[in-house]
This record gives sequence, C-alpha cells and structure tokens, in this order.
Amino acid sequence: MEKDTATAATATAAARVCRRCKAKYSPSDNTPRSCRFHPSFFVCRRHDDQKRYYELKDGDPPYAAKFYDCCGAEDPDAAGCATGFHLSYDDPE
Ligand SMILES: [Zn+2]
Ligand SMILES: [Zn+2]
Repeated sequence: MEKDTATAATATAAARVCRRCKAKYSPSDNTPRSCRFHPSFFVCRRHDDQKRYYELKDGDPPYAAKFYDCCGAEDPDAAGCATGFHLSYDDPE
C-alpha cells in the first residue's frame, strides 16, 4: 500500500487531458506530432461536392450521412487528419 504513494503523486502531477483528442498526456512529452485530431466538426449534410459518400439504407433519415467537415471521414472514431500539440483545458485557445 505505502509503496504506491510516490507513484500516484507523480501521475497526478504530470497527467493532463487533451481537449482535442481527449487523451491523457504529460506536458513534458508533448510534441507537434503528439495529437491527432480533426480541426473541424462532425457535421450532418452533403459533402461540399454534393456527393453522398454514405450509402443511405432503407429507413435511414437523410441526416444519417454524417462526416468530418475537414477530411470527410464518416466514422466518428476515425483517426485525426491533422497533428499538433495536445491542448489542455488550462491552455489558452
Ligand atoms: Zn478530419
Ligand atoms: Zn491531443
């Protein structure tokens, strides 16, 4: 039990949560390539070229076609299309 005290204290001091990718990171290990994120929102409309990449199935509402406005990825869990520093909730915009 007592052995864990030092480890726990270090972890709380270092850990931050990124507000873009929601990953935990330590500020000392934050590089311009640490964070993968989508710079734009997950939207619900036709793509800019008016094509539907998402095949609507019978019974799907028209707004079922959702995608990231930045890269067109249709999976909400798709890996980010941009990289950068992690941003904590404490950092300025
Ligand atoms: Zn994207
Ligand atoms: Zn991040």
